[in-house]
Amino acid sequence: MSYTANAARYDCLPRQRCGQSGVVLPQVSLGLWHNFGGDVSSYQAGKLLCHAFDKGIYHFDLANNYGPPPGSAEECLGKVLKSQLAGYRDELLISSKAGYDMWPGPFGDFGSRKYLVSSCDQSLKRLGLDYVDIFYHHRMDADTPLEETMGALDYIVRSGRALYVGLSNYGAATLAQASKILKKLGTPCVIVQNRYSMLAREIEGGFLKECENQKLGTVVFSPLAQGLLSDRYLAGIPAGSRVASNSPFLNKGDLTDSRLIQLKLLNEIADARGQSLAQMAIAWVLRQKAICSALIGASQAQQIDEACGATDRLDFSDDELALIEALI
Ligand code: NDP
Repeated sequence: MSYTANAARYDCLPRQRCGQSGVVLPQVSLGLWHNFGGDVSSYQAGKLLCHAFDKGIYHFDLANNYGPPPGSAEECLGKVLKSQLAGYRDELLISSKAGYDMWPGPFGDFGSRKYLVSSCDQSLKRLGLDYVDIFYHHRMDADTPLEETMGALDYIVRSGRALYVGLSNYGAATLAQASKILKKLGTPCVIVQNRYSMLAREIEGGFLKECENQKLGTVVFSPLAQGLLSDRYLAGIPAGSRVASNSPFLNKGDLTDSRLIQLKLLNEIADARGQSLAQMAIAWVLRQKAICSALIGASQAQQIDEACGATDRLDFSDDELALIEALI
């Protein structure tokens, strides 16, 4: 299927530089953790990805294990990169990761050099690419020496498999150590990726301070708490939603009565701001100086439009922030 990108795509979204690096992110990025697995046709996936690209989203985030089954999201993007997006590789910022369980045995998980390098090779094969733009270590590994894991990331860049390295799900203290090692090796960490939303605020305080101090770009995942922070569940559980699919990551148990009351009250605040709840949730994470981009997921084009619309109103009054704070 032939595709020509929207000529005005770079006028659609604000962008932010990642720390002191050359990496510049759209303030809304799209992740392929869900909705791009083996049961999705490359036609459907291509439509969604091209729609995002038309709206100014040129950063697509993956990991070796995204699917299901693991690996299928990379294969899916690989097909779209060969067809509709074939002429746009140099405009796209594509990230992948390794760090979670991917194949049996001690070298298919965590942070050894053997795992990271071979997993990166497998990712490149599935994506049909010579290099990814960002390669992340996906989670901390208490057993492998940090020097080995950082050495593997440095090697992955030096060998041309990735252009930049990032760290995901690291705590502040380990991040500080890891970043020091990477700097010494000459391959600085340019980006960190952690969870952040009104319902998951662990990175506030120590972690974000560390990112600011070290001038690291921060991209935050699940800003909508997987869809809870939107109107998706305010009137029940729609067919085809993440909760309806009984995902191990989000299910009926997460939709308690008190949660629903909280979401409805947040929705009223968003309404008074002239935004949807999803838009307010994205604006709320982007209010932090260190955060360059909100990394969303989407199952429909309209969700992408709504997310991009968040950037029309990013400011919060003190009163609005206090009202939100009282609810979360
Ligand atoms: P979100 O919090 O943005 O949740 C996305 C889901 O919310 C969508 O799939 C959709 O659910 C629903 N949704 C999105 N927009 C709307 C809307 N406007 N109205 C109603 N519902 C909406 O992010 P994810 O949890 O999907 O994570 C995003 C990305 O972050 C991942 O793809 C991945 O790249 C990255 N990530 C990284 C992790 C890490 O360890 N580094 C861990 C987790 C995620 P539905 O399918 O029901 O329509």
